[in-house]
Amino acid sequence: MTDKTIFKKIIDREIPADIIYEDAHCLAFRDINPQAPTHVLVIPKKEIVSLDDLEDEDQAIMGPIMLAIRNIARQLNLDHGYRVVCNCGPEAGQEVPHLHFHILAGRALTWPPG
Ligand code: AMP
Repeated sequence: MTDKTIFKKIIDREIPADIIYEDAHCLAFRDINPQAPTHVLVIPKKEIVSLDDLEDEDQAIMGPIMLAIRNIARQLNLDHGYRVVCNCGPEAGQEVPHLHFHILAGRALTWPPG
């Protein structure tokens, strides 16, 4: 049996996090090492390693998660815009093997990303 990821431990309330949103499908909390004035992570409660590991049945949770991201952006008054990032796999810089979406806002974000 594999060890729980740090995000699964947050879902199970085994380690603390600054949780700002929760619904049946997902949890959102502030990134511990913020890369922008607002940096929130949105994760499915279901243990999914990455975008590449989604199964067809997961379409039932991905739509609600996208709408949750919209709702969180509204809740945080991100009126000047925000960026949603999903790092998938090692070359993309994914460090935690539990699917997550970064919401970044509060400063001008450059493109292309590093
Ligand atoms: P990624 O590189 O896309 O896998 O992003 C993982 C993110 O998780 C990084 O931005 C980390 O700062 C963040 N992170 C790691 N551990 C925690 C934690 N305990 N609480 C909040 N954010 C975390």
